Amino acid sequence: MSLKVQNTATRSLQEFEPLKAGAVSVYACGPTIYNHAHIGNFRTFLFFDLVHRYLEWSGYDVRFVMNLTDVDDKVIEAAAAAGVSVTEHTDPFGEIFLADTATLGIRAVDSYPRATAYIEPMVAFIVRLIEGGHAYAADDGAVYFSIESFPGYGKLKGIDTSTLRVGARVAHDEYEKEDARDFALWKAATEEDERVGAAWDSPWGRGRPGWHLECSVMSTAELGETIDMHLGGEDLVFPHHENEIAQSEAATGVPFVRYWMHVKHLFVEGKKMSKSLGNFITVRELLDEGYDPASIRHQLISSHYRGELNFTREGLKASSSAVQRILNFEARMEAVETDEGAAPSPLLELAEAALAGFRAAMDNDFNSADALASVFVLVSGVNGALEGRPALRAIDRDAVLTVLHSMDQVLGLLEVAHVARAVDDDLAGYVEQKIQERADARANKDFATSDAIRNELAAKGIVLEDGAGGTRWKVMG
Ligand code: AMP
Ligand code: ZN
Repeated sequence: MSLKVQNTATRSLQEFEPLKAGAVSVYACGPTIYNHAHIGNFRTFLFFDLVHRYLEWSGYDVRFVMNLTDVDDKVIEAAAAAGVSVTEHTDPFGEIFLADTATLGIRAVDSYPRATAYIEPMVAFIVRLIEGGHAYAADDGAVYFSIESFPGYGKLKGIDTSTLRVGARVAHDEYEKEDARDFALWKAATEEDERVGAAWDSPWGRGRPGWHLECSVMSTAELGETIDMHLGGEDLVFPHHENEIAQSEAATGVPFVRYWMHVKHLFVEGKKMSKSLGNFITVRELLDEGYDPASIRHQLISSHYRGELNFTREGLKASSSAVQRILNFEARMEAVETDEGAAPSPLLELAEAALAGFRAAMDNDFNSADALASVFVLVSGVNGALEGRPALRAIDRDAVLTVLHSMDQVLGLLEVAHVARAVDDDLAGYVEQKIQERADARANKDFATSDAIRNELAAKGIVLEDGAGGTRWKVMG
């Protein structure tokens, strides 16, 4: 068995063959950091993480790049509304995004390029396109890509190019496929752009890059002219990725991407979750409601990335039980007694079969739903085999634990659950120590110290309640 991926460009399931044997380059379109990422975005980012982890698990040498969009139409609008510069506006959201990815166990990637750090190479890229006859400076101070100059235009989305309006232009970053026209590579700076620090010098005067150009340039700069995989949410197929292909292939003359993969959008209570619809839920909101990161991770990877996923609190509760079942199983296996004289058991075969099932599922276009099913085949198979068996040979027990942990290197559920638990334990240890110090201070009538301790805890969101049975504490909700 080997990895097969559904390539949006060919609309077929293809055997995955990287350009260089044993190594894979991946570019993923990351968040626009003008606001909080929502859990729909995180469905997409968790898919990126599964790809990242599974390629590494399979032995590839992976170079994974995910950009952070810190200048585009939406960023400028948000920064202007907040009365700050684009950098002041995006920096905190970038931090929050990275913290949320860590909470959900998304592995750090090799590089997180930000568009504002690549203005010079973007200008050079446009010059190259103009020189090749693929772009032109217009009288509005902008530079447009000439889609007529690139015969392959429309192939990713499957657009009938005979309907395209030659020479007609569109300046916005986002538009419908019916509106496919020459798109802006560079836009003349408006007063608002200047005010929020989103304007740079260029051969065409003050201006700023178009969103599509940013990814072409950062991908080429970080990974080379042809990359193996490019990932994003399904809404990016057109115009974003269509335009990336046009810009990159027109400039370099070589194929831009070997495999394109797109994640279906998450629905929430039956509707597409989006920032513009205002029905979005963030990771922090769910944590504040008391859900744990491993359950959120489970819910968002529980369906194949091209399949529907409708987020509900009920589903999240079911995910929480699923994660708990895996944790209980791990604890049971770790506690099981070993005895070299124990009768041989079918555990070794069960473990091997589960691992084979897991690999087949992930090889089949990263089917995480089937991969999770393999974990539960292992859990129920082994639980069944343990009935009436007081002890196991160490080799059998270890085989099960090794396979369980190996699968978790990709799924990351035990990993995230253990981290969250350790954080909780640390917090509990810290608070209990402070409560003891406060009790000692009060016993010594040192009320200044006891008040200071209460305030210190309150600043961290922890409230103390003194009662007959001693002091209890809780985290403010
Ligand atoms: P944005 O921050 O809007 O640029 O989006 C970042 C990534 O999340 C892109 O790859 C989007 O396609 C993806 N995305 C946006 N909304 C959803 C959704 N409801 N479900 C899954 N992915 C989404
Ligand atoms: Zn992009």
